[in-house]
Amino acid sequence: MVSETGELTAQFQAPLKKYLGDKTAKVLESGLALRTVEDLIRHYPRRYAERGELTSLDGLLDGELVTLVGEISKVTNRQWKTRKGSMLEVIVSDGQSNVTMTFFNQAWREREIRIGRRALFAGKVSTYKGKRQLSHPDYQFLDASDSDSAESKAREYASALVPVYPATAKLPSWKIGQCIDTVLAVLGEVPDVIPVKVRKELGFPSAASAIRGVHQPETRAEAAKAREALAFEEAFTLQVLLGKRRARLRSLVSRPRALRGGGLLEEFDARLPFDLTKGQREVSAEIETDLCRSHPMHRLLQGEVGSGKTVVALRAMLAVIDAGGQCALLAPTEVLAQQHFRSISLMLGELAMKNMLGGVAHSTKVVLLTGSMNTATRRSTLLDIASGEAGIVIGTHALLSENVSFAELGLVVVDEQHRFGVEQRDALRAKGEQPHLLVMTATPIPRTVAMTVFGDLDVSILAELPKGRSPITTHVVSQIEKPAFVERAWQRVVEEVAKGFQAYVVVPRIGDEGANDDAASEELAEPAEGEESENKRRPIALLEIAPQLEQGPLSSVRVGILHGRLASEEKDRVMSDFARGDLDVLIATTVIEVGVDVPNATTMIVLDAERFGVSQLHQLRGRVGRGSAPGLCILISDAEEGTPSRERLDAVAATLDGFELSRIDLEQRREGDVLGTSQSGNRSHLRLLRVLRDESLIESARAAAISLLEEDPELNNESDLVAALSVLETEEHVSFMEKG
Ligand code: ADP
Ligand code: MG
Repeated sequence: MVSETGELTAQFQAPLKKYLGDKTAKVLESGLALRTVEDLIRHYPRRYAERGELTSLDGLLDGELVTLVGEISKVTNRQWKTRKGSMLEVIVSDGQSNVTMTFFNQAWREREIRIGRRALFAGKVSTYKGKRQLSHPDYQFLDASDSDSAESKAREYASALVPVYPATAKLPSWKIGQCIDTVLAVLGEVPDVIPVKVRKELGFPSAASAIRGVHQPETRAEAAKAREALAFEEAFTLQVLLGKRRARLRSLVSRPRALRGGGLLEEFDARLPFDLTKGQREVSAEIETDLCRSHPMHRLLQGEVGSGKTVVALRAMLAVIDAGGQCALLAPTEVLAQQHFRSISLMLGELAMKNMLGGVAHSTKVVLLTGSMNTATRRSTLLDIASGEAGIVIGTHALLSENVSFAELGLVVVDEQHRFGVEQRDALRAKGEQPHLLVMTATPIPRTVAMTVFGDLDVSILAELPKGRSPITTHVVSQIEKPAFVERAWQRVVEEVAKGFQAYVVVPRIGDEGANDDAASEELAEPAEGEESENKRRPIALLEIAPQLEQGPLSSVRVGILHGRLASEEKDRVMSDFARGDLDVLIATTVIEVGVDVPNATTMIVLDAERFGVSQLHQLRGRVGRGSAPGLCILISDAEEGTPSRERLDAVAATLDGFELSRIDLEQRREGDVLGTSQSGNRSHLRLLRVLRDESLIESARAAAISLLEEDPELNNESDLVAALSVLETEEHVSFMEKG
């Protein structure tokens, strides 16, 4: 049984050149990254075209999908004079009208496309030099012998579904379809990961018939059912993987960090200048319960922008320090790590002054570790971490480096989780003996997405904002339609500064990219999907616009600039100056997107706003309105009324609900982007599953996975599933390694 399955899986993982010609296999690999039988089989059609009803040759409409019957009346093959290649021109006539078929670089077709033959031609109508034509039509000859049945054959041909595959110039859809047909014809069985019982219960066809149904459907209903079964397969495999991970976590032993009175946490609470919100108290209680257990906490804290996640994390860290452990706080950017270091040191005050003048009895030490520190500081910081002197270690990716070792790492906190992969958080956790884990994200995501992406985590939600916050007002200004409003926006910044407040100006690009493209790219705004053609101008560059603003509308205020290419001391200095109020306006790239917290900043102007994603704008906007004064966010853009870009901006302006915005955002993205790079579930694994559209499918896959794992935790009876899981885990690992 097991060996049989092994063979099935081996057949599935075999290289394509085993079944297709070498040349074809090469093109499939270079053009579409399809290397194995499974890769090809799982290259699903994007949609299905109908060949089109039989159409008469006169009155063809541009863009229409048609099937025509006609007789070949003229064939010309032309060699290009100026470049390589040829064009085969075929005139087809129905006795009254003519239409031209063209084939590029396919002179060989001349052998079969001969004058006098009758055939069906199917394709899309286009116009070239005023003449209607079909370019690269599908065709099928109607031989004279069956002229009787020609009519009915024609009808059947016209109504069949033609799968349309994601294709490339070298590999048109029909060619991919042929390769798939070839492979399907020789492929015997296919591995079936869904237990028979589940399949029966949910009424899905077998894996083999689902695969045939998706590639060679006779009806749309069959194709839809096949798709559903295959999407379920994806969801199910993933949910089993996540379920196994949860089980593994529960079996790990870690040191409980029970709450102890009379320690740092109690002192901290007593000094806290505000009351915790109800949500903060509830989440803190959940975390404290987790920390008391003897298996590691594995919790995701999802909080709206500005909901006060840092305090919750800090309280957890203090509890762990009280119980004898050290804590690591991993931040995605240097700017954010530096800010956490400053604000946590500030919040702790003398509680963070271990061995220093003014430190209290059981105080601890907070250290910062980033990649760009000088050697001496770095060495002494590493020593503090290794000796256990440092209770709280804040840092960027530098924390993951091999030479960072902890005396007793008890808790890992990952801020803005969406910037990290599973492997990265695991790399940090490996520095302790099953430390507890708290990951935080301000990118709220719908439940099923959380289930898919973070399925191995328990989830806490912090929805409410601390009291006394004034809402942020957002306006969209089109600089083409309303240039005067742009002027007004700058005036507004100056007025806010006059009132003692501060402002941000956000630009999508650093500029002067020649200098160092790599550093720039990490800070760039995420390009919005499918809008390249809509907007050709290069995004506004910080290095170009900043001097113009400083000499123009912002000449009367103190301006600082911040971007990823600055040296880390410079970043720290600028951010500190701004936080202290020594700068009025900060012109920045998306380095300030997450986490930056300066409550005195009230206004934000985003230039070229259409260059940013919906969630990204929501995050950015969360930088203002953090104090008691109302926040104002002005999105300046070229996007004109009625364009998709403009609609996205209007959506951001219309609501402050991060959950709703992330939904809008997700709906517009490809799945790979939704799930991030190496979160649970690798982008190549989820081909059909759409986390928003397939909510109920994911729910039922999760339920089925859980009950299967209860019955058969080691999956002894599910060898196909076990094989699929190991492929999935390897892929996940590889994609992490590739990212570096
Ligand atoms: P985020 O959840 O976006 O990371 P932060 O943790 O940066 O938010 O908190 C935002 C601001 O709110 C900080 O200045 C913090 O000190 C403040 N804050 C946190 N909790 C409360 C509270 N309960 N009452 C008032 N202010 C709070
Ligand atoms: Mg934060």
